Amino acid sequence: MKVLKTNKDLQEVLQQIRSEKNRLGFVPTMGALHEGHINLVNKSIDENDISIVSVFVNPKQFNNVEDFEKYPNTVQSDINLLEKAGCDYLFLPDFNEVYTSAYQPVNIDLGAIDDVFEGPLRPGHFDGVVQVVNILFRLVQPDMAYFGLKDYQQCMVIKALRDQKYPKINLSLCPTVRAQSGLALSSRNKRLSDKGLEKAAFIYKALKTVNELKKHIEADDAVKYGAHILSTHHIEVEYFALANAETLQPSRKWLRSGKNVVLAAVWIEGVRLIDNIVF
Ligand code: AMP
Repeated sequence: MKVLKTNKDLQEVLQQIRSEKNRLGFVPTMGALHEGHINLVNKSIDENDISIVSVFVNPKQFNNVEDFEKYPNTVQSDINLLEKAGCDYLFLPDFNEVYTSAYQPVNIDLGAIDDVFEGPLRPGHFDGVVQVVNILFRLVQPDMAYFGLKDYQQCMVIKALRDQKYPKINLSLCPTVRAQSGLALSSRNKRLSDKGLEKAAFIYKALKTVNELKKHIEADDAVKYGAHILSTHHIEVEYFALANAETLQPSRKWLRSGKNVVLAAVWIEGVRLIDNIVF
């Protein structure tokens, strides 16, 4: 695998890829790679001739400075994992390579997506995501780009960006990879103690319970019961709510014709974790 640190090096490689009419897959990440990321990389390798992964911890999407400062940096282990997976290129730019002196923020209409759940709780977060993915899409111009449904609302934001600015890029939104306990893999899990990890497994248990209760009880009661599971395990719930999976608008009733999503954000040992289930 070749590591590209500058846009100049990236453009040279891309020129070659395009001249050979190779199909290009792209996986943007912030590093601290785990099986969830590698699953996206494997999919890209399966479906394309060439795969590029980017590792860039984007300061603009952190609304909390401490979270940014504590974000794990594991470049060597990331490189090892990507080489083992058979990735072709790693784009590993620094801040000035991404946000050059010519940087102009892009304006995307996110409609109501930014008004719910993560939007109001993490002001500026989705705008930061839009800015960095816009820059990366513009630089890489892939045929396919891979994102994880673990960050469900983020996937909808990326769809809006793609629809409005990059209609030629195909998006592949991939299922959440979980530990055996059901806990969604996340680089933040590294900050939890063994006890915290045990507790965190109840997030997915609570989400699954809501799904299972759909056949039996009203949505409001099922969601209350799910949240109750979390509070019995002393998990601080920021939100635990049902929404329309297409529009993300919160709902107090099951959707019978469209898909339901239950979204959760909780705090365990000072670490904020998010997860969701679609059914
Ligand atoms: P991040 O490095 O956290 O920005 O994540 C990079 C990409 O990996 C995003 O599209 C995430 O949604 C995706 N991702 C992170 N964790 C998981 C997981 N457990 N399962 C599937 N995709 C994931």
